[in-house]
Amino acid sequence: MRVAVVGLGIAGASALYWLSKQGAQADGYDQFYPGSEQGSSHGSARIIRYSYPDPLYAGLMKEGYRLWRELESATDRQMIITTGGIYFGPADHPEIIATESALIECGADYEKLSHAADRFPLIKFYDGEAALYQPDMGYITEPGRCAEEIVRRSHARFQGDRVLRVDPDGSVHTRSSVTKYDAVIIAAGAWMNQFAPNLPVAPTAQQMVYFRPTLPISQFSPPNYPVWIDADTHYYGLPWNGKTQGIRVSAHIRGPQIDPDADRPDLNEETDRIRAYIDRRLSGLSDDVVFSSPCVYTNTPDEDFVLDFSPESKKIVYLSACSGHGFKFGPLMGKLAAEMALSGDRSIPPERFRLDRLLK
Ligand SMILES: Cc1cc2nc3c(=O)[nH]c(=O)nc-3n(C[C@H](O)[C@H](O)[C@H](O)COP(=O)(O)OP(=O)(O)OC[C@H]3O[C@@H](n4cnc5c(N)ncnc54)[C@H](O)[C@@H]3O)c2cc1C
Repeated sequence: MRVAVVGLGIAGASALYWLSKQGAQADGYDQFYPGSEQGSSHGSARIIRYSYPDPLYAGLMKEGYRLWRELESATDRQMIITTGGIYFGPADHPEIIATESALIECGADYEKLSHAADRFPLIKFYDGEAALYQPDMGYITEPGRCAEEIVRRSHARFQGDRVLRVDPDGSVHTRSSVTKYDAVIIAAGAWMNQFAPNLPVAPTAQQMVYFRPTLPISQFSPPNYPVWIDADTHYYGLPWNGKTQGIRVSAHIRGPQIDPDADRPDLNEETDRIRAYIDRRLSGLSDDVVFSSPCVYTNTPDEDFVLDFSPESKKIVYLSACSGHGFKFGPLMGKLAAEMALSGDRSIPPERFRLDRLLK
């Protein structure tokens, strides 16, 4: 079977890998290159975790972790850095309660810390707050390199071309070629609307910001300083990766909507909000930005992913593992998309990822 994958961020790269592994003749297209800086799968790290307030996502991560391990051994590259991590907030916060119950439901180890400040002295905890420590939490290092290596390991053909159009019969049009496929997976990230104009996905400008420490930077390393997520405000942070001169603190809050082909806007106000947050929450970090890098979220209204056939053709699979939390699911979503393309079976992914919910 001949299958094309349009878009080689982590989702498309993974789909390409599993298509090839299952014996399909797979071609990958990207307008730039796998894991490009214009898309979402780049930068220095992406958090990986079971700790989700939603049992669907917590439950999917069991297979999610397994597939990352498989890709690590296939590419001979360490991708996951396990640091342990905490999800914290007011003990009675709905997300803390829901996360604890999702961790129990999916069978992941966790510990409810009663003295989190003793364990993580650079984080300020306030009265009435709870911290759920999960030992498998960590980050995936060098996301763009991961996508690139996965594409390389797939041994599929890569075409560095913008796809202009995909027809319902599986024809893929670029400026220089028209090629007909048995199936096409479209994993175009922030450009999904080019192929599915009715899909209500909104690209927003985000940024990754690194702040200069006032303490020796190595103190921002595990076990002293973990991956952390604040359930109430959705700010989050990562430990020192041993390379950068700064420590990353970011907000999982949607930025301004953008056209993915236009220049990215300045997000100075957002940086100021992160500075104010650091002031309240962290010790040992200055408000001096060492480095910041733009990125893009592709948001669905409900933050659930999209994995379904096009309403016009079962030859076309739409894949969007998005809304600012999809990297960790890239290998799993890519594998499910590959299985759908090869089998024509719509029931493979969770029903919540179907298009109907968004196209009503
Ligand atoms: C700042 C930031 C922090 C994040 N943190 C986390 C995190 O901690 N944990 C987590 O799990 N997730 C996180 N995410 C989300 C995660 O990075 C994304 O969900 C994921 O990378 C999306 O991957 P993708 O393959 O769907 O899209 P992309 O990586 O954007 O790939 C889409 C590709 O399609 C290509 N393309 C588009 N149109 C065309 C066309 N017409 N022809 C050819 N090619 C085309 C693009 O060039 C691009 O390479 C974060 C995102 C951002 C921006």
